[in-house]
Amino acid sequence: MKSKECVNCGSTHFHKVEQGWKCDYCGTVYLKPQKGSSPQQSQNPDTYSKKRPRKVIIAISFVILLIIGSVIFILSNTTSYEPIDTQPANSQSKGAFPGEWTSEIYDSIKVATKHYDADSEKYSFEGGASYEELEKLVGPPDRVTSWEKEKYGMPPKSTATWDQTKDGEYANGSVTITYDKQTKMITDKSRY
Ligand SMILES: [Zn+2]
Repeated sequence: MKSKECVNCGSTHFHKVEQGWKCDYCGTVYLKPQKGSSPQQSQNPDTYSKKRPRKVIIAISFVILLIIGSVIFILSNTTSYEPIDTQPANSQSKGAFPGEWTSEIYDSIKVATKHYDADSEKYSFEGGASYEELEKLVGPPDRVTSWEKEKYGMPPKSTATWDQTKDGEYANGSVTITYDKQTKMITDKSRY
């Protein structure tokens, strides 16, 4: 301190007082560094920097858990279909069915069960056969009607109708299949 200049008067003469050093001329007191306070000051950023990575780790693990959770949610929501089990057709069963249809195919089609979710106010379907698998068996329908928009909580759907023979003439009977447009799961069937 003695080698330094007083910031107020420029004097280089100081004398020691209780708090530190006092300028001989103008009386400005220069406090000596306090041993009690300085370690405390360095401790604060220390504990702060120690806590911060822990917060980051918690945040990262939360994000990871969120990702895992949503993946499980997506996987559990993937559509599973019931197989269409068909027995070989006999000539009798051909009867009143259009195109490639047989009563065995018609009877083996499992129609999805409808579930109503009160929270989302929407219907969902599960346990039905795949429309795409059916189309491989009986060929493309003669007519398709589609509802593009969700209605009263029901997802967009299509109805496919087969009513012609293989020769393109009107068959004795027709089959109508309703399926969910998005999942292609069969939700209803009818014939006459
Ligand atoms: Zn001074």
